[in-house]
Amino acid sequence: MSTLLEVSGVSVTFDGFRAINNLSFQIGKAEMRAIIGPNGAGKTTFMDIVTGKTRPDEGRVIWGDKSVSLLKMSEAQIARAGVGRKFQRPTVFEDQSVFDNLLLALKKDRNPFSVLFYKRGPSDTEKVHTLAEQIGLTDHLPRKSGELSHGQKQWLEIGMLLAQEPQLLLVDEPAAGMTPEEREHTTSILVEAAKTRAVVVVEHDMEFVRRLNCKVTVLHEGSVLAEGSLDHVTSNQEVIDVYLGR
Ligand code: ADP
Repeated sequence: MSTLLEVSGVSVTFDGFRAINNLSFQIGKAEMRAIIGPNGAGKTTFMDIVTGKTRPDEGRVIWGDKSVSLLKMSEAQIARAGVGRKFQRPTVFEDQSVFDNLLLALKKDRNPFSVLFYKRGPSDTEKVHTLAEQIGLTDHLPRKSGELSHGQKQWLEIGMLLAQEPQLLLVDEPAAGMTPEEREHTTSILVEAAKTRAVVVVEHDMEFVRRLNCKVTVLHEGSVLAEGSLDHVTSNQEVIDVYLGR
């Protein structure tokens, strides 16, 4: 599998505290990867580095076929280069329909009033329908997004990110607060999405990670502690000790 993202020797210090400590690992194209680790392991900081929100003190973050450094790019440039990030709290426009939210995302537009002025060509409508199918919200396209359930809002936001065709999708605890059925559906959306792009899921819930059925990277104190299948990493004594706080 060819490499999409290479993090190499990255360290970040906050007020003298090393949150990320000589972190190195790679993500392949069209790979699903789960990142786990106890609180404070550095998972959020890792995502902040990749999206350009936090700048490391040292190390390299190399992206794509042309091996460009993400560290030389602004947050907006990184997003344009193909890094999408989904936070836990959805940021859909609650007063707009599901259709319009997807349309705005396709147009890369953050002004909800713009939809009033778009000329909706057949290709836009088709793209919105394709996205809605991917996230299982076809029947909900005319509904106001504010009326959706928690799970449906999360899927809509994933759809809005997919509209921007990221090569890498970073997702923070996508199944938090969901019913078992919603978690199942979230799994299929992400697994499907990872067929054509890299998807990195930061997750606490091991049952959810198991369903993703992917390589797992365990972070601890800002470094990779273990990597491999979920069964492999959870049988690692160091990982067990860290999780049990020994
Ligand atoms: P995780 O997401 O795995 O819980 P974080 O990346 O949020 O871990 O945090 C890693 C460590 O860095 C934690 O000890 C946290 O307190 C610290 N940290 C994160 N961001 C900051 C910051 N802006 N200032 C100071 N310390 C921070």
